[in-house]
Amino acid sequence: MESMSHRRASDGRVGEGELVGEFGVAAAGGADAFTSSRYPRHRGTSCLEATVTDDANPNASLIETTLAEMESDAEFQELTEKIARIGVDGMTKEERTQRRRALDELGVPNFMTFVAEHEDRTGPGDESTASPIRNKKLFRSDPNILQLNIGLFCNQACNHCHVESSPLRKETMSSEVAARCLRLLQNSPHVDTLDLTGGAPELNAEFRFLVRMAREWAVENDRELTIIDRCNLTVLSEPGQEDLAEFLKDNRVDVVASLPCYGEENVDNQRGRGVFGRSIDGLLKLNEAGYGTAEGLSLTLVYNPGGPFLPPSQSSLEADYKRELDEKFGVKFNNLLTITNMPIKRFADFLAREGKMKEYMELLVNNYNPETVPGLMCLNTISVGWDGTLYDCDFNQQLGMDIQKLSVFDIECLTDLQKYSVKTDNHCFGCSAGAGSSCQGATV
Ligand code: SF4
Ligand code: SF4
Repeated sequence: MESMSHRRASDGRVGEGELVGEFGVAAAGGADAFTSSRYPRHRGTSCLEATVTDDANPNASLIETTLAEMESDAEFQELTEKIARIGVDGMTKEERTQRRRALDELGVPNFMTFVAEHEDRTGPGDESTASPIRNKKLFRSDPNILQLNIGLFCNQACNHCHVESSPLRKETMSSEVAARCLRLLQNSPHVDTLDLTGGAPELNAEFRFLVRMAREWAVENDRELTIIDRCNLTVLSEPGQEDLAEFLKDNRVDVVASLPCYGEENVDNQRGRGVFGRSIDGLLKLNEAGYGTAEGLSLTLVYNPGGPFLPPSQSSLEADYKRELDEKFGVKFNNLLTITNMPIKRFADFLAREGKMKEYMELLVNNYNPETVPGLMCLNTISVGWDGTLYDCDFNQQLGMDIQKLSVFDIECLTDLQKYSVKTDNHCFGCSAGAGSSCQGATV
C-alpha cells in the first residue's frame, strides 16, 4: 500500500470561528452549541489543517481499531444497549416521534402537505417540468438508477452513518438476490446506472460478481451503463483488497467516495481514528490507477457537514477541496458532491441527545426549496435492500418504509413500480433544504 511518506505536510490553518461560515448554514445555536464526544467541537483546527498522523500499522485492517473505538465510546455503548432493549423498530418509531414533535412545535404539517401547499401558493414552478405531485402524493417517472445496498458490514462505524453500519453488522446480500437484481437491470430499459452501496460494498462477497456480470452484459448488449461503487476509501487498504483499484478500473466502475473534510481531525472525529490517513492513501492508490485524471475513470468525493448545519455551495467547496488536496497530498479528483445530514439513525440519535432535533428540523424547514422537488432522488431511483426488499430511496430503506412489501422477486422490471406513489415522511425535509440533497449531491 501507499506509505505515509506519500503524504505532504500542511501549514495552512483558519480559525475555529470561520468553520460554519465556510462550511455551511448552521442550525440555531450554531457551531458553538455543538459539543459532544462523538461530534466534538473542532478545537481550533479546520479543514485547512491538512496534516496526517502516522498510522501505527497501515497494513493492518481498520476493523480492530473500529471495534476498539466502539467499545470505548460511551455513546455507542448506550445506543447499542438501547437497540437491544427496544429493538431497531422501536428506535425508528422513537426518532420518528421526535421529528414529529419538533415539527408540531414549529406548527409544520407533514412533508407532502407542506410541499403541496407551497405549490398551491406559488404554482408548479418551471413550466417545462411536469410536477411529480398529484393529490398531495409524489409519483416517480421511469427509474434510471438501480441502487443496491448489498450489506451493512463495514470496516468503519462513522457517527453520522444513516445505515448504522459497523464491523458488527452481518446483514449481507445473497447470491440469489444479487442474480435477481441483475435480471431486473437487464429487464429495465430505462436503467442506465447501477449504484452499489453498503456498508462497505466491496467487502460483500457478491460485489465483484455484480460488477463483472453487469459490465459484461452491458458490453455484450451495447448498453451504456454507469456502475458506481460508493467507496469509503479505507477499504482500499483492507487486507485482501490490494487489487481493488485495478478491479474497479478494469470494469470501468465510477468511484464515489466519502471525504467529509480535507483535514485529519474533522474526518477522524466523524469517521474514526486513522480514517483520514487511510483515505488519503486510498485516493493516492486510485490516482495511481488513473482515477481522477484518465478519461472514463471518474473519482467523485462526497462532503457532508460535520454537524447540524447545511452544506455550503457545492461548486465553491469543490474548488477548495481540489486546491487543498492537490497542494497537500498531490491528490486529484473529478467532482465533489455535497449532501445534507438526514435527521435519521445515528444523526437523529445525536440530535435528540443534544436537544437539537427541533433546531435542526427548523433549519431544514426554513430552508425548504421548492426547486429541489423535481430532483428528489426517489423520483428516478429504486433502492434495493440486502434482502431484496424494494424501497423508494436508501433513507426509506433504513426506516423500514418499503414499497408495498414488494421484493425483487415480485416484479419483472422497475417500471412495474411506477403505479405506486413514493412513501414520504418527516425525514424528507432533509432532501429539500437549500440546494437539495441526494446520492448524486445537490439537486439544484
Ligand atoms: S463508511 Fe459509510 S457505511 Fe461505513 S460506517 Fe461510515 S458512513 Fe456508514
Ligand atoms: S427521503 Fe427519500 S422519499 Fe423522502 S424525499 Fe428524500 S428521496 Fe424522497
